[in-house]
Amino acid sequence: MKLIKEKKIYTGDGVIENGYIRFDEKIEEVGDMTGFEPKEDDLEVNCAGTMVVPGFIDIHSHGGYGKDNMDATPDEIDEMVKQMTKQEGITTYFCTTMTQTYENIEKAMQNIHDAAQKNPVIKGIHVEGPFISTVFKGAQDPSYIKKPDENTLEKWNEISGGLIRIVTYAPEEADPSFETWCRENGVVLSAGHSNALYGGIECKRSNTCDSSLQCTARTESQRAGGDRIWYAGRRVHAELICDGKHIVPDMVKLACKVRGYDGIELITDSMRAKGMPEGKSELGGQVVIVKDGMAKLEDGTIAGSILTYIQAFKNVMEFTGATVEDAVKMTSGNQAKEFGLDSKGGLLQQEKMQTWLY
Ligand SMILES: [Zn+2]
Repeated sequence: MKLIKEKKIYTGDGVIENGYIRFDEKIEEVGDMTGFEPKEDDLEVNCAGTMVVPGFIDIHSHGGYGKDNMDATPDEIDEMVKQMTKQEGITTYFCTTMTQTYENIEKAMQNIHDAAQKNPVIKGIHVEGPFISTVFKGAQDPSYIKKPDENTLEKWNEISGGLIRIVTYAPEEADPSFETWCRENGVVLSAGHSNALYGGIECKRSNTCDSSLQCTARTESQRAGGDRIWYAGRRVHAELICDGKHIVPDMVKLACKVRGYDGIELITDSMRAKGMPEGKSELGGQVVIVKDGMAKLEDGTIAGSILTYIQAFKNVMEFTGATVEDAVKMTSGNQAKEFGLDSKGGLLQQEKMQTWLY
């Protein structure tokens, strides 16, 4: 079995100053060198000049490398996610869908289900739309936006084999029954593309959520100074696209200060143009132009990102002064805890989790 030893290991929940890891495809053992005992089949890996951090968890990404979760075949999704693992260090990925026709979303659910059978990195689906607000539609096609409907979500979840882990929705549009269904079925409710005011969201949560309140709402902070960041300061997890463009570096720093590193989860929100030459692309059936590191609809609306996860990891330290330990919370530790991907709280303390060397 492969062995890394005498390394500083960031677990997502702390640091082992002088530790070791045994692994093959997955991690089998992590510990402090004081408890290390050599084994006959140890194959030491030379990783001088690297640090060991948990594989990144991207819970919000539409695509990359020319592919999009909405229209890619299972083989194409598998290949795309392999590229994300190889080039960016993503070892857990939630395929994110878009506002489109129910027929297209159902097809995507089936394709993602099939892709997940081949690729263990695919551990969930993030349904972003169509249950959102037409007022803050972003780059989602408004003609397919619908009122939140738990029966439809249940059907999609069945098609996907129970992979739906999170739904971005407009709370002001939802009946309590929608939120109840999500809570009872392990689907995290994420307030986003919403026209609800601060008080509206809070009131909704108070009425419908139980003691796991702080884990069941989320906000997508795409606008500098937006009320979403302040709301995040209270109790929700905030998704943050750390490319320095969706949110300028100083606002990333402010978000971290207000919410704390324990409440922020870095996402890429990447679309198919990631890893591809700049020029014309597509998102949710709409034309996208990629120029100067930004993906935009023809009317100038930001349309996802072309951010790689490894770049987000570097950026968040550069923008905020976060330590590696803090950054690792935002790239894996917080997500692992929220989505139950690691019952022990630290990614590298869990058997069978994957790692990546940086
Ligand atoms: Zn998105």
